[in-house]
Amino acid sequence: MERMLAKEQIGDWIRTLRGWEVFGPVLQDGVWSYQPADTVQLDHPNTAQPPKGFAFPQREVFFTFEQIKGEPPRLTPVAPKGGQQVVFGVRPCDARGLPRMDRVFTETFDDVYYRTRRGSLAYVGLACNQPPSPHCFCKSVGGSPVSTEGLDVLMTDLGDRYLVAAVTATGEKLMQAAGDLLTEPTGVDRSEAGRLRLAAITHPQRAVNDVASVPPRLKKGFDSSLWEDLARPCISCGICTFLCPTCHCFDINDETNGSTPLKGSRVRTWDSCQFPDFTMHSSGHNPRETLGSRLRQRVCHKFQYFHENFGMFQCVGCGRCVAGCPVGIDIIAVVNQVAASAGEG
Ligand code: SF4
Ligand code: SF4
Repeated sequence: MERMLAKEQIGDWIRTLRGWEVFGPVLQDGVWSYQPADTVQLDHPNTAQPPKGFAFPQREVFFTFEQIKGEPPRLTPVAPKGGQQVVFGVRPCDARGLPRMDRVFTETFDDVYYRTRRGSLAYVGLACNQPPSPHCFCKSVGGSPVSTEGLDVLMTDLGDRYLVAAVTATGEKLMQAAGDLLTEPTGVDRSEAGRLRLAAITHPQRAVNDVASVPPRLKKGFDSSLWEDLARPCISCGICTFLCPTCHCFDINDETNGSTPLKGSRVRTWDSCQFPDFTMHSSGHNPRETLGSRLRQRVCHKFQYFHENFGMFQCVGCGRCVAGCPVGIDIIAVVNQVAASAGEG
């Protein structure tokens, strides 16, 4: 289903979405993030963080506990939030993060917290007529500025109006709620959308070289000295992983509320393979002790191991880790250099 929406009516559409909690990109203190919204203005660059947290929040309580002397421990489960949420303005690369997270949290292992949130989440995407970041490389990793993978609806900005296209049955329901606000596209609308899509997919981007050869080359380059050389400036801050729409490592801790160690919550929080103690064993041995071994893990997980396991790259080419790294470590350059050196000789 394809329909047209006048730009000034997007708030009217959102008001028809009864029962849905609506989010959109908002600029606050110089930072773009997804916030509750009763209307949205979709002229945003990449949000600082992807929308990953809607399905996989940075902090999630599993249950609370309390031990009272002489009584059995009391455990109170905390159900995952299940209300319907719809996020407007999702970039196609970020939307492709969701099916990759699904592989981990619903196929490899059934994570009820993720599955519950994911099952009530919808993405209304915005095609990238222009790359929103100079570091975009979605086309290198199987995506496109007009990709619909992971989206329920894709909107294309035609200047004063949007072409709104349903991708899933949920997307159709969201569009049906709009009723007469959405109108039949004209031939002019369709040809303008086609022209913009063609321009978007031919717009130059940064690129991973010969990407099909990357998984075997990274495998061959496992012991390359380049890993330590390229990782030397890394300060192990973990920003690259916390900004990534596909990174999904987590830790689980018991948090107590100060006064007594016997009352608190079991909490899952994001973790990072770039933290030195991520793989620290209780013996004190750390199999990824060096910066290079940790950079290799991040890069090979995205470009080799995930590809071997699921037939797809775990990187969607959003460029956030490149833009956000405080010391300029650039995953595109790292992949290209290690793969090139492994292809020599
Ligand atoms: S690895 Fe970097 S470029 Fe790739 S999806 Fe994650 S943050 Fe984006
Ligand atoms: S953002 Fe840069 S410095 Fe920080 S952990 Fe990642 S690669 Fe290292």
